[in-house]
Amino acid sequence: MITKEMIEQAERRIAPYIHRTPLLTSLQLNERCGNAIYLKAEHLQKTGAFKIRGAANKVTEAVAQGARYVTAASSGNHGQAVAYIANALQIEAKIVVPEDASLCKIEAIEGYNSSVEKCGYLSSDRIPRAKVLANKRQGVFIPPYDDPLIMAGQGTIGLEILSQLEDVDAVVVPIGGGGLISGIATAIKESNPAIRVIGVEPETANDTYLSLAKGEITPIAGTTTIADGLRTIQPGDLTFPVVQKYVDEIVLVSEDEIKEAFTFVLERMKQLIEPSSATVVAACMFNKLPFTNKRVVAVISGGNVDVADSINLIKK
Ligand SMILES: *Cc1c(COP(=O)(O)O)cnc(C)c1O
Repeated sequence: MITKEMIEQAERRIAPYIHRTPLLTSLQLNERCGNAIYLKAEHLQKTGAFKIRGAANKVTEAVAQGARYVTAASSGNHGQAVAYIANALQIEAKIVVPEDASLCKIEAIEGYNSSVEKCGYLSSDRIPRAKVLANKRQGVFIPPYDDPLIMAGQGTIGLEILSQLEDVDAVVVPIGGGGLISGIATAIKESNPAIRVIGVEPETANDTYLSLAKGEITPIAGTTTIADGLRTIQPGDLTFPVVQKYVDEIVLVSEDEIKEAFTFVLERMKQLIEPSSATVVAACMFNKLPFTNKRVVAVISGGNVDVADSINLIKK
């Protein structure tokens, strides 16, 4: 299990590479939700998502151990984060992406001077390939969530929240593989166990919800949720025990609720956020939280949306 000390160490290590993101508020959102909502704006983070925190922690440590080469398997936010930090630390990176990765995502990775290799359509094709590439050159494979340094890096968001907002009552976090929530929950609960940590998943990607109910890791068959950052089909071996220990509750949101939250944040707050992040706003807006009149931080995990496609996310 990771510890608060590991997260404090991560905070010092990654400080030169990340933004301390603001908390955004809206009276309209508060009224609609019946709680005082603070959006932790990781969509304004370097590379447009929180993934740079874990990647920076893991890659900095790898470089300190002598690595000059890292690989990752992701066309999304994790791939961009690894490419960004490798470039900042002046080492080489190769990112393995699916055959059908969009040109704009490939260009974003190449823009950070990483090379890209296409491989298959499934992460079960890409991950072994990225590991082989790393091993060939004494490099380090950087996993997206199931790793103590990645989890600790994401947990720095929890420490930041505690320093930015007094008397926070609850923190609401989206769940994919569970790296983000396991880090944040450790930082929060090992500082103040009275603060509630609530996870959010789409109804159609409820693997962590089911796993908690069953008391063991329980995969789902697959999902096509619009929250593309949350499409993992089971929690991680390292993240799940932390979720079991520290997360108070997981709530589920529908695809329509995600769209309505996305539209509200865009129209009323003028913020472009990912559907994966709109899940937490949806949980607040549709009264899924088991309390009212509390101070609630909703973690907006990223803002990398293809603007041309974003029209499909609008709820009319
Ligand atoms: C990766 C990601 C998540 C999920 O994070 P996990 O650590 O896999 O639970 C949520 N939102 C966005 C935008 C992401 O990129």
